[in-house]
Amino acid sequence: MDEQLVDIFDEVIARNPGETEFHQAVREVLESLGPVVAKHPEYAHGEVIRRLCEPERQIIFRVPWMDDDARVQVNRGFRVEFNSALGPYKGGLRFHPSVYLGIVKFLGFEQIFKNSLTGLPIGGGKGGSDFDPKGRTDAEVMRFCQSFMTELYRHLGEYTDVPAGDIGVGGREIGYLFGQYKRITNRYESGVLTGKGLGWGGSQVRTEATGYGTVFFVREMLAASGSSFEGKKVVVSGSGNVAIFAIDKVHELGGTVVACSDSNGYVVDPAGIDLELLKQIKNGQRGRMTDYVQQRGGQAKHFEEGSIWDVPCDIALPCATQNELNGADAQTLASNGCEIVAEGANMPSTPDAIRIFGEAGMRFAPGKAVNAGGVATSALEMQQNASRDTWSFEYTEQRLSEIMTSIHHRCLVTADTYGAPGNYVAGANIAGFTQVAEAMLSQGVI
Ligand code: GLU
Repeated sequence: MDEQLVDIFDEVIARNPGETEFHQAVREVLESLGPVVAKHPEYAHGEVIRRLCEPERQIIFRVPWMDDDARVQVNRGFRVEFNSALGPYKGGLRFHPSVYLGIVKFLGFEQIFKNSLTGLPIGGGKGGSDFDPKGRTDAEVMRFCQSFMTELYRHLGEYTDVPAGDIGVGGREIGYLFGQYKRITNRYESGVLTGKGLGWGGSQVRTEATGYGTVFFVREMLAASGSSFEGKKVVVSGSGNVAIFAIDKVHELGGTVVACSDSNGYVVDPAGIDLELLKQIKNGQRGRMTDYVQQRGGQAKHFEEGSIWDVPCDIALPCATQNELNGADAQTLASNGCEIVAEGANMPSTPDAIRIFGEAGMRFAPGKAVNAGGVATSALEMQQNASRDTWSFEYTEQRLSEIMTSIHHRCLVTADTYGAPGNYVAGANIAGFTQVAEAMLSQGVI
């Protein structure tokens, strides 16, 4: 790492003790920026990087709510408004027991560069809570969402901060959050949240966008080497919203997804994952992958031990959560002849894993580029809301596809320009960073 960047990184660690995921996300970006600071002394002069590493605003609040047994529960809510150089803060809310400030900050930091890469006018932010929706009734989830929004609403607005979903926050939660925002403010402000229902301001393709976008990005990676998904064996970790629609698009483009997973283990299905069954179990029954194997029969098998990355494949798409793919997994993927790893989730590969992909000559693309289709389609939802319009599925999907093609192109061109040909990590970090840095310099010391 460049010397002035080492100083900044040390300062980040000292100012944010214990926030290991945030440190990891910052390190990954700073490691790419050496050639950028060499070329642009004005960034050092304006302390752009030091300013960028400090969120513009961090909100932490109590979320009290009553469970179905009339017991009071207390959770912690977060919103980190990281950077608004390019537009209103934009990024999802995550409801998961693992959520703490370090997770929200890593996600918010990544979001700045991801949103910049989309080429659309959105800043970076992220929020959430340590609330665990698993096993909670709809009524409990509603009361939690209402309490969460009763505090957060004062910080939001279509020109200020626009949350959406992430792990544990889907259409149901966005509905309850929007209802409470509308009730408190007495405004039907459609553009204040994205991921809304299709009948009341939501966008076509938003549900599918992160998974579809991931596969569109890999389609471009394959095309760059004259190849395609046709006949490729693919492993997709996770079985949530991102994984489901990644599987859908891989199958449409001629590949076969032979494995997916949840927090209890993974399923191998050599005939290809049956998507209709998976959707029914995950969305309809809110069930587990063990239910999938029982209902699917045939050769499908469930494994509790080991790792989904032991399953041989040509393309690996980690679509579950941060740090789910470690150095040993990367080694196994390499030995099994895997050619491409592309991150549908945020930061699923550990730094060790990324190093091993490089050493093994595999092609690796980071989440901030690969999974940007979700937030890009959120920005398309904001456009539709602002113009009080709705677009067709076909038109919206076409826009998403073009955006992913353009992100892929931008990564490769930028990597070339800065002397790292074919390096998607460098390309994504540098392209995302320079646009934000230029805007920050133009807007003065704020
Ligand atoms: N949570 C998603 C992400 O990681 C989407 C955010 C959004 O649509 O605002 O990018």
